[in-house]
Amino acid sequence: MQILNCCDLSKTYANGENTVHALRNITASFEQGEFCAVRGPSGSGKSTLLHILSGLEYPTSGKVYYQGEDLFAYNDNQLSILRRRRFGFVFQAYNLVQELTAYENILLPVLLDKRNPDEKYIAMLIELLGIEDRLHHLPNALSGGQQQRIAIARALANRPSILFADEPTGNLDGTTGKEVLSLLKYVGKEMGVTLILVTHDLNIAEQAERIITLEDGSITFDSCRQEV
Ligand code: ADP
Ligand code: ADP
Repeated sequence: MQILNCCDLSKTYANGENTVHALRNITASFEQGEFCAVRGPSGSGKSTLLHILSGLEYPTSGKVYYQGEDLFAYNDNQLSILRRRRFGFVFQAYNLVQELTAYENILLPVLLDKRNPDEKYIAMLIELLGIEDRLHHLPNALSGGQQQRIAIARALANRPSILFADEPTGNLDGTTGKEVLSLLKYVGKEMGVTLILVTHDLNIAEQAERIITLEDGSITFDSCRQEV
């Protein structure tokens, strides 16, 4: 089943006198549960694509459909509810709230959504990610790898259907990065979550089932398509 489609997406930024074409006519679709890496050199448009697919940024033209619904036809409030409930985000710099414990960080999306945590589900996430003994620490008492595991648990706390990850291993050493990536892949499969991961690193991208390559704002390769 297709969960997310984008159709003829373009994004331009005004940069003084110049127009920067961050994305040019991007069309792609994503299946429920697939793991897709978007790779390409710095400046090729990866983050812009991720931000538009996840409703954080508007395209200049083109559409994004989540379960067949036009994402940008929603008003701001509807869009932020959809993002909070259906999408999870994992960042390079973890973006944990420094004043809250690891456990409080994990519960944050559920509490912000004014829902009661499903304690059984949260406990299952914590176990899958192997972070049982770190829960009462503040983020700065944790290693990078531990912080990213907490961030992954937080991203999954609302049972999203899509997880968007922007260079999730970019701040980690090689070994820790591999561990975190395997965990992401494992929890994604375990929970049937679609994983769309941006990386400039081919070694990371090669762990995905599907690779989309961006160059200068265009898709130059998509491993799920014959042509391009
Ligand atoms: P990547 O993630 O592959 O490094 P980005 O999506 O961040 O690429 O950027 C694509 C292009 O768009 C780059 O040329 C970048 O400088 C430009 N760009 C990104 N965001 C902005 C912005 N807010 N204003 C102006 N230019 C931007
Ligand atoms: P970069 O690609 O430069 O590393 P990030 O991917 O960390 O930047 O974040 C991009 C922007 O999106 C940031 O300004 C961040 O605050 C914002 N952002 C991240 N997650 C969400 C969210 N769930 N809802 C709204 N805005 C968000």
